[in-house]
Amino acid sequence: MTVGIVLAALLFTIPAGPACAAPAADASPRAEERNRPLRQLLDSAGRAEWPTVAAPEASPIPAADERYWIMVRASTPQERTRISEAGMPMDEITADKVSGIVHVNTVKQLEAWGFKIDRRIPMTEYAQQFLRDFPPEDAAYRNYQEMLDTLQGLAQANPGLVSLFSIGKSIAGREIWAVRFNTTEFGAAPSAKPGAVFMGTHHAREHLSTEVPLLLAQYLAANQDRPDIRKLLETRDVYVIPLVNPDGSEYDIATGKYKWQRKNMRVNPDKYIGVDLNRNYGYLWGGPGSSGSTWSETYRGPSAFSEPETQAVKNFIEARSNLKTLLSFHSYSELVLYPWGGSDKPIANAKDLQAFQAIARQMAKFTGYTDEQASALYVACGDTTDWAYASRGIFAFTIELTPKGSSGGGFYPGSGVIEKVAQVNIQASLYLISLSDDPHQAIGKR
Ligand SMILES: [Zn+2]
Repeated sequence: MTVGIVLAALLFTIPAGPACAAPAADASPRAEERNRPLRQLLDSAGRAEWPTVAAPEASPIPAADERYWIMVRASTPQERTRISEAGMPMDEITADKVSGIVHVNTVKQLEAWGFKIDRRIPMTEYAQQFLRDFPPEDAAYRNYQEMLDTLQGLAQANPGLVSLFSIGKSIAGREIWAVRFNTTEFGAAPSAKPGAVFMGTHHAREHLSTEVPLLLAQYLAANQDRPDIRKLLETRDVYVIPLVNPDGSEYDIATGKYKWQRKNMRVNPDKYIGVDLNRNYGYLWGGPGSSGSTWSETYRGPSAFSEPETQAVKNFIEARSNLKTLLSFHSYSELVLYPWGGSDKPIANAKDLQAFQAIARQMAKFTGYTDEQASALYVACGDTTDWAYASRGIFAFTIELTPKGSSGGGFYPGSGVIEKVAQVNIQASLYLISLSDDPHQAIGKR
């Protein structure tokens, strides 16, 4: 494929939702960036050749929405873990109830297991209440192309600091982009500096979790001359991967009305769409809190790392032994979580546990969120952070952004929250970057 065709593919074959083309609030000259000579973009990204982008297949659209929003009675972690196994992601949890979006088969499963379902609303009806969207009022949220434009702009404007590359392709063929901040090494060149990685949007509908790492990247570039930021950038190897699930995210906004998509866009053999990427990682894969049914919202996939998206993250991390810290952004609930998620036992290494707790506590102070072990509310196997710590010793955290839906948060909190949420989470991220040479130094500090 020639470079020109590749560029054309980049620009024209990745569909943007009709309302998503509106410019973001920063009004950066995107069109101008897009039209710059390809050579210039490649040079600034430190690449000889632009990575190939195959045109994604048209996303399969399920014929009818077979999902419900439900509220179920449950008051113990054991009950919630069981509910998760039935395929229900618990978006909101109170002392005696949980609620979330599930396939109709999950409703049947829960009833068969004797759970009391207090409320059930067909998804088509439920979604009517939430027509806030990348449609005009949410135009500040960046879709896939706008995210790529931002990353390309950063790489182009900061050739001595930022490089852009793909860590692999999604199931529909979209590149999963990463930007790297390093003052001495570029692209895939190894670095001896301690590394930190920030990721967003494993779950498609959690669009704010793309914005926060994107804004972190923009913040680092914009403040690179501030002495404290300069020092961090000169002594660290920082990666930002804002959109791990690009197909699901694009599908969620493609019609101008949110689809409430969680999983990736894998077409399972029985036609049901999607694997829950945050149940597909390899540590304790298949255990409690994930489902083996394809229709389930917490379907873990046929095997660990069966999905190209998690495989790409795995390969990326395994290729870089200098990575010491990781933060995976999700939404919502305002939580700072540390391993284990797949077990209700604490981390066995006492010194590591202390460091995890101290770092989580400090990040909770920056954000105002609650810090706890990931399994505090229910056990869920196969997430990013358990695998990163268990297999690589990485101090890995999940942050659940934004308040509950009833407090103006939820999955689609509107563009008004972006700035404030990003601000506090950038503080927490800088703290994590600063600790990446030795996370244990957090112990004993307040
Ligand atoms: Zn999530």
